[in-house]
Amino acid sequence: MHYYSHKDKNLKSNFNEALLASLAGDGGLWMPSVTPAFKESELIELAAMNFSDCAASLSNHFVTNQIDKQTLVDICADAYNFDLPIKTIFGDRQSPYVISNCQDYILELFHGPTLAFKDFAARFMGRCASKLLSVSSEKKIILVATSGDTGGAIGDAFLDQKNITVIILFPKNGVSNVQEQQLCTIGSSNSNIYAVKVDGTFDDCQGLVKEAFSNKSMNKKFSLMSANSINVGRVIPQSFYYLWSSLQVKTSNPNLPIVYSIPSGNLGNLTGGLLAKKMGAPIDYFVVGNNLNDPFVRYLKSGNYNPLPSISTLSNAMDIGRPNNFPRILELYSGDYDKITNVCHGFSFSDDETEKHIKKIFREFGYVMCPHTAVGHLAMNAFKMKYKFDFTGVTVATAHPSKFTENVDRILGQATEMPISLKSIFKKKKIYKTISPEISELETILLNCVS
Ligand SMILES: *Cc1c(COP(=O)(O)O)cnc(C)c1O
Repeated sequence: MHYYSHKDKNLKSNFNEALLASLAGDGGLWMPSVTPAFKESELIELAAMNFSDCAASLSNHFVTNQIDKQTLVDICADAYNFDLPIKTIFGDRQSPYVISNCQDYILELFHGPTLAFKDFAARFMGRCASKLLSVSSEKKIILVATSGDTGGAIGDAFLDQKNITVIILFPKNGVSNVQEQQLCTIGSSNSNIYAVKVDGTFDDCQGLVKEAFSNKSMNKKFSLMSANSINVGRVIPQSFYYLWSSLQVKTSNPNLPIVYSIPSGNLGNLTGGLLAKKMGAPIDYFVVGNNLNDPFVRYLKSGNYNPLPSISTLSNAMDIGRPNNFPRILELYSGDYDKITNVCHGFSFSDDETEKHIKKIFREFGYVMCPHTAVGHLAMNAFKMKYKFDFTGVTVATAHPSKFTENVDRILGQATEMPISLKSIFKKKKIYKTISPEISELETILLNCVS
C-alpha cells in the first residue's frame, strides 16, 4: 500500500509523507494505491462494531505500518468521543416526499466540538500528524483556507499540539458570525493557532494558500502543511462514517437500495463516500446537492467541467467555484464519465429554494436544518421525484443550524436554541490579524510565527 500522485503514478510516497507534504512534488493530489475491498463476512464484523472501533479497523488499511493498530484504536477512541446519530426526522408522520416506500434518514455529522462534519477528518488527521511529528521532532506550519467550518475544526483539532502552528485564513464577510467567533477564539494570545482575516473572498484565501505551497522556497522555509481537503489525510477519515452508517442502515432495511445525498463544495465529503463504496459500503447512488456554485452538477449534466469564480450564498461553506477534489473523483473512475454518472447524480438550488425548504421542514416536522443540510435534502427529494423507485435515503447533515443562527433565525422568524458549547465562545474576545490578499502580507505573518 502506497500513495501516488494523480498526475504521475510513478511518483510515490507512504502515508507519513502524503499527510505531512500534503501535495506531491508535481503538484498532484495523493491517491491511495489500493482501496481495501471487504468481503461480506468482514462487513458483518465491521457493522457490529461501534463507530470508533470500525474507524480504527478501516484506518489500519490506509496508514499501513507507520502508526500501529493499537495506536489507531486509541486515536479513534479519543477523536470520536461524540455521537453519530442516524435520525428519522419525520416521526410517525409520513414524509411529504415519500413516493411509496422510501425511508428518509438524516445522518447528523455535527455533534463534534465545532458542530460541523469536518471534525471527523480534522480530529483524526490532527492526531496522526502530531504522532508522526513527535517521532521525527520536525516542526510544521499548517496553512488553511476556510470558507467557514474547516478553520474551526482544524484549529480545535491542533490546539496545543506540539511542533505545529496553525494559520487560518478566512474571508472578510464570507463566514457567519458564529464561525468567525469560533475561528478567532480557539487560541489565546500565546497559543499555536492564529486567525487571519483576508480582505477578499474564499477563492482569494485558497489562492494565497496555493501560491505559498507552489513557491518552493517559501514552502521549504516554513515547512508548510495543508489541512484542506487537498490533503489525503482529510479525505480518508471521511470514508469511515459512510461505511459504518450504511451498514447500520442496511441492517434495518436489507431489501432496499441505499442512496446518500451530500451537500457539497470542494467534494471532499463525496470523495470519502466514493472510497467507502469501493470498500464495500452498501450505497447504490450518491446525490450531490450544490448551491449556485455548481460546477460538479453541471459536469454531471453535460460532461463538461467549467469551474467559475465563486459567488456568495446562504450555504457559505459550499461557495466553491473550483472544487479541489474533482481530480480525485475522475481518478477513482479512471476519468470515465459514464461510470461516474452511473453512481453520482446532482442538483443545484438557489438561496430562495433553500430558505423555503428550511421553513417547510420546520413547519411540518419541527426539525431545524442548516442551509447546507437543506440543500442536501432538497437534492434527495429531487432525486426521488426524478427516478421514482423505492430506496432508503440518507441525507448527510453537515453542520448544526446554530452555526448559521443569524440566517436560520431570520428565515424561521424566531430564535432557535444555541448549544451551550457555542454560547460560551461568545464570552471570549476575538483575536485575529487582517491582511489584503497579497502573498507578501502572508509571508510577514509566517515570519512572525517562526520567529
Ligand atoms: C465544508 C462543508 C461542506 C462541503 O463539504 P466538501 O467536502 O467541501 O464538499 C458542506 N457543508 C458544510 C456545513 C461544510 O462545512
